[in-house]
Amino acid sequence: MVKKVRVVVIGSGPAGLTAALYTARAQLSTVVITGMQVGGQIATTHDVDNFPGFPDGIEGPELTARMQAQAERFGAQFDYDLVTEVDFTSGSPFRVKTQSREYLADSVVVTIGASPRKLNVPGEVEFTGRGVSYCATCDGWFFRNKDIIVVGGGDSALQEAIFLTRFASSVTIVHRRDTLRASTALQHRAFANDKIGFIYNTVIDEILGSSETGAVRAVRLRNVKTGEVSEKPIDGVFIFIGYDPNSKVFNGQLSTDAAGYVIVDNHMRTNVEGVFAGGEIHDDIFRQAITAAGQGCAAALMAINWLGERADRLQVIEDEQRDAPIASSKKTTEAV
Ligand code: NAP
Repeated sequence: MVKKVRVVVIGSGPAGLTAALYTARAQLSTVVITGMQVGGQIATTHDVDNFPGFPDGIEGPELTARMQAQAERFGAQFDYDLVTEVDFTSGSPFRVKTQSREYLADSVVVTIGASPRKLNVPGEVEFTGRGVSYCATCDGWFFRNKDIIVVGGGDSALQEAIFLTRFASSVTIVHRRDTLRASTALQHRAFANDKIGFIYNTVIDEILGSSETGAVRAVRLRNVKTGEVSEKPIDGVFIFIGYDPNSKVFNGQLSTDAAGYVIVDNHMRTNVEGVFAGGEIHDDIFRQAITAAGQGCAAALMAINWLGERADRLQVIEDEQRDAPIASSKKTTEAV
């Protein structure tokens, strides 16, 4: 069965939840296809200290729940499913397929985000949020006067390592080669920082936790040249080995840059008229919950505007099932 709606929002991070709030509040029937986890990356962040309006901070899942409740208050519906296929080729209305149903939407807002690359070593999943982090801005505060490792040799690793020296006693950059990929300017700044040390030609084979605290206590390192294995006591491991935008499902339909980020103009318009994008699916610079929310808002405003301007020309979509529950979907709390 095909469900007809005015707006499908793909993704449920701060960008998607904000977009849904705006389109639903504009009286447009809106379905959010959430992906594996409502909230995206923010849902895996313990405490969010830098989202305005919460002077004492707020837990990521709580912020997510509040944003969802706010969108639902205006009628947004949530489908706890994954998008498997889209068809934007014939213009509006657009076909969006999930694992269990199909939508026909006048407009689509793409907020499907990007995922930090994982090391894929033992202990990484287990200790995420307990010493393993992919976000210095989110979690740096919790490592005041602690010793931490940053993994990676690119711009992100060095930039975040420099930022983390505001909090940590020491930051050791562990890089798999003996040459950094980061820009010369960032390298100079990192080399000049007394708190930053480097371990080259080395990878992390395992992240080890303490049975007492349930948090990271050490890493097992391996020198890739000599094969020497060692254990280094550490309080935190920040992993910055690149991000992958979740844009594969749009391959051949939405224009992306070489890294796969969806290209939008300054009105959040993609190359397909009626399809807008916001948040980390197009933004590889700011990567903050608040900037994603702002971009989701902007994309939604453009969708509302676009639908308003073309109301007479668009296929009239009567959403007969607007109040029907989306029964075929299951909520999951699994990490992406
Ligand atoms: P990146 O440039 O792709 O660098 C990733 C780093 O992680 C590389 O040093 C890579 O090692 C390492 N790495 C990748 N997979 C690994 C693995 N499995 N185990 C261990 N190490 C691994 O990613 P990024 O630093 O996130 O930057 C992404 C883009 O954003 C870049 O274009 C960058 O210039 C840009 N950016 C710019 C700024 C800035 O201008 N201030 C800040 C942040 C990001 P190898 O070097 O051996 O490949």
